[in-house]
Amino acid sequence: MAKNTIIMCLFWGSIFSFIFSASAQAQHAPPKRPLATPEVILARPQVPILCYHQIRDWRPTDSKTNKDYITPIDVFKSHIKMLADSGYHTILPDQLYDYLNYGTKLPSKPIMLTFDDTDLDQFTIAAPTMKKYGFKGVFFIMTVSLGRKNYMNRDQVKQLSDAGHVIASHTWDHHNVKKYQGNDWVIQIEKPTKLLKEITGKEIKYFAYPFGLWSPQIIPELKKRGFIAAFQLADKRDEKEPLFTIRRIIASGYWSAHTLHTSIVKSFRSTGK
Ligand SMILES: [Zn+2]
Repeated sequence: MAKNTIIMCLFWGSIFSFIFSASAQAQHAPPKRPLATPEVILARPQVPILCYHQIRDWRPTDSKTNKDYITPIDVFKSHIKMLADSGYHTILPDQLYDYLNYGTKLPSKPIMLTFDDTDLDQFTIAAPTMKKYGFKGVFFIMTVSLGRKNYMNRDQVKQLSDAGHVIASHTWDHHNVKKYQGNDWVIQIEKPTKLLKEITGKEIKYFAYPFGLWSPQIIPELKKRGFIAAFQLADKRDEKEPLFTIRRIIASGYWSAHTLHTSIVKSFRSTGK
């Protein structure tokens, strides 16, 4: 009898501990869904992604080349109005990530608006303009500039984050990632990520390459530091790492709303293969 009792106890004990440990595991480490293969990701219709820098009126001292990166205020407003009038809906990186990996449905005519380099006018002009249409964007912050003249400060970055925009990393001072060695990874990537997390209270999961420059060798380094996707400019996506070479086009300061629309349609394949 005593022997049977012991066996029963062991039996129920092991069942109990099995259930308990399974539920504890479910709570602490949800099983990760496998990511899609590069082939699957590359075959999905592309979501257009626009990249803006400064949003201000041109000055006589602005060079011809720089004007690609300076969108006059009325032009910017006309771009955003055109997108809204044409039925576009802004999406954020988590939505893009789930769409590319798991095929999660996106709103109709999805588009992503991204802003690089921490310029103050992104806070004073771009954010209120987007708000008018219920649009959200992604701000790739270069942390060296925080609080400097004509750049956003920490509080403004926090306000953007609290308003539902996404704050992401664009290094400390815009050095070319391809040239990093040794401590550069700490200075350019690790410390800025930690600071942005402190400011926003959120994980920093997305990265934009300064100048759009990347190489296959640096992708594992970004993954090691917690990034789950990275954005370049308009070059072809890498066949093995499409999530770390997501394409964007610079919405040039020279482009009318009409030209922007043509470029969106031309540059991003809107149908599956
Ligand atoms: Zn930049």
